[in-house]
Amino acid sequence: MVIVMNIRSSKQDIEAVNKRLADLGFRTQAIQGVKRIVIGAVGDENTADSLLCLGQMPGVEKIVPIMKPYKLVSREAREEDTVINVGNVKIGGESVTVIGGPCAVESREQLLTAARQVKEAGGHIIRGGAFKPRTSPYSFQGMEEEGLKILREGSLETGLPVVTEVIDEYSLHLAMEYVDILQIGARNMQNFRLLKAAGQINKPILLKRGMSATIEEWLMAAEYIMSEGNGQVILCERGIRTFETATRNTLDLSAVPLVKRLSHLPVIVDPSHATGDRQLVMPMSLAAIASGADGLILEMHPEPSKALSDGPQSLTPEGLADLMAHLHRIVPAVGKYLA
Ligand code: PEP
Ligand code: MN
Repeated sequence: MVIVMNIRSSKQDIEAVNKRLADLGFRTQAIQGVKRIVIGAVGDENTADSLLCLGQMPGVEKIVPIMKPYKLVSREAREEDTVINVGNVKIGGESVTVIGGPCAVESREQLLTAARQVKEAGGHIIRGGAFKPRTSPYSFQGMEEEGLKILREGSLETGLPVVTEVIDEYSLHLAMEYVDILQIGARNMQNFRLLKAAGQINKPILLKRGMSATIEEWLMAAEYIMSEGNGQVILCERGIRTFETATRNTLDLSAVPLVKRLSHLPVIVDPSHATGDRQLVMPMSLAAIASGADGLILEMHPEPSKALSDGPQSLTPEGLADLMAHLHRIVPAVGKYLA
């Protein structure tokens, strides 16, 4: 349930409500809105008279039970869009954020070149995988800590924040020393221990939709992170598995407006993994923005033909610059601005 405090409620009122909730066995999380504080409380709502007595406490405006299985993630817990600040970049709200970079960090030169090209094209955040969850154990698995150091260098040189994927608790704790956003990929969307560990740190988490996950399962995965105390979750639609084999996955764009209705969290789109085809990345990027996405994560490689992973879906540097030029026209048309 959500306890909505009234605009004039004092700090003491909020503390008293928190204490009462804790006594009743609820886990609480304050959600600061523009005008007021609401307290998300997760626990057994059948506890005798809990609802009744809470509603009488000073400063409490109303108690809203949440019927959905996800609570803190839901729009009912927070009416306004969550905006996540990463350095000077905002993700969510009115802004559209573009993340670009190679699938994997392959060498210092490759990543630094890509980072400069992303910056030059007007991208806001750099991506690059240092831990790669590959289908085959014989494929390139990533440069691990050396890759993280290179990402850090790319960030320092360009002044842009970086995101990298983590695949277990070891890589999570290592990566948080080097990067600004931690990605939990499609293959780990239901790695519940990893989700809980991500909930216990104070860094934004980019949570991709599992390739066979329903929207409810995806939002429940986000709830795992939020229920541990980390409210900085960015959702990413990256295509789901269907009977269609002509594209790598099927980009579920209807998920974007639907998830934005169900949740206050920002939603971005990855048209690279969704389509697997560089030529489809531009049209699906524009469609994603038109559908209400808060941003894009795009694979771009200085020389896609030489990429160690996902070359066919990687934009060239010129392709990224061209896409950015199109976004400059599309983004204002949907009432947003490029971050
Ligand atoms: C990636 O972003 O490099 C990646 C592996 O994505 P996904 O988890 O969506 O497959
Ligand atoms: Mn990739």
